[in-house]
Amino acid sequence: MPEKVVIIGSGPAGWSAAIYAARANLDPLVFEGTVKPEMIPLGQLAFTTEVENYPGFPFGNVRAFIESAVDKDRHWNLPPAPDHKRDGVYHYAVQGVELMELMKQQALNFDTRVIGDDIVDIDVSSRPYKVIPASGDPVETHTIIVATGARANYLGLPSEEEYKNKGVSACAVCDGALPIYRSKPLAVVGGGDSAVEEATYLTKFASKVYMIHRRDELRASKIMADRALNNKKIEMVWDSEVTDVIGDDVITGVKIQNNKTNEDSELAVNGLFIAIGHTPITGFLNGQLDTDDKGYLILEDLYRSTTKIEGCFAAGDVVDSTYRQAITAAGMGCKASIDAERWLADQGIE
Ligand SMILES: Cc1cc2nc3c(=O)[nH]c(=O)nc-3n(C[C@H](O)[C@H](O)[C@H](O)COP(=O)(O)OP(=O)(O)OC[C@H]3O[C@@H](n4cnc5c(N)ncnc54)[C@H](O)[C@@H]3O)c2cc1C
Repeated sequence: MPEKVVIIGSGPAGWSAAIYAARANLDPLVFEGTVKPEMIPLGQLAFTTEVENYPGFPFGNVRAFIESAVDKDRHWNLPPAPDHKRDGVYHYAVQGVELMELMKQQALNFDTRVIGDDIVDIDVSSRPYKVIPASGDPVETHTIIVATGARANYLGLPSEEEYKNKGVSACAVCDGALPIYRSKPLAVVGGGDSAVEEATYLTKFASKVYMIHRRDELRASKIMADRALNNKKIEMVWDSEVTDVIGDDVITGVKIQNNKTNEDSELAVNGLFIAIGHTPITGFLNGQLDTDDKGYLILEDLYRSTTKIEGCFAAGDVVDSTYRQAITAAGMGCKASIDAERWLADQGIE
């Protein structure tokens, strides 16, 4: 018997889709991916520390709740609780891995089946469709929900890796409001619309924002470029590339090189936000679903999760170059599951 719903991906979109599908008696099967340098099971939030903007998780004794909710055999995966206490009791915002383990647990509680493997291809040329795991036999399925996310592009410097979560970030909306960045000089690398958005957003918190761009004009649309150029808190650093991130426990500055004069200099900053684009994870689809010029999957109906192949749905960052937040991804996962359920009902598949 073919599966009713196969979900590819284990970030907020994937688990949310699984929770809805499982509660609708669709017995979903999730392929959660394997560890690769740039992607791990549980999605992008597994790369971050505290998540302050996911609704329902104010500061509190998160550790006690997590330990009570998540199966004991997965406690090894929980990061140490941050040492923030109130009246001697843990008091912190949920950490990325904790939030994702809770989402996974909620899906498991309704009997979602999970396979720790990558899908390396799909076949949607005839129904039922097939998903092909890296190891193991192809799996037949009536519907597929693609929730494989997108990874942030980084510069590729070893020091940048060392200072991730210690001042290096790829998401201003996620991290800009954290205390370590408040009233401090910060830098954004990039020159497109997203870089301008990130820099403008950071001006709410920073004492000053440098925009480091390797050209002498912004790639952003004119209206966005003007927004940056007219913002008194933003200073442009043209024709320049970051060559190193420096600091002690946290970052204290960046080394930059002017690519016209080859002159090296240092900029004292307490945060470095990389805004040089994202890479949606769609390669394994081998062109069977349409993508836009940035590689994001194209939805047939922007208000839903439908793709050009009926019975194939997509959700989360893999379709979303605009918002890229855990809450929006989870919302899209819910939509994909409801779309799959209704499509199955229309086909008379129970
Ligand atoms: C450092 C960092 C900090 C962030 N902080 C915040 C924050 O504070 N608040 C917030 O709202 N958002 C934050 N975000 C953004 C948020 O993480 C994403 O918007 C969200 O995780 C997207 O969810 P998703 O389910 O679409 O995809 P992802 O979370 O990217 O998950 C996709 C999953 O699919 C798996 N996968 C990929 N390909 C395959 C395959 N072929 N087969 C099987 N599995 C596969 C991957 O391993 C991954 O686990 C942050 C992102 C980063 C990188």
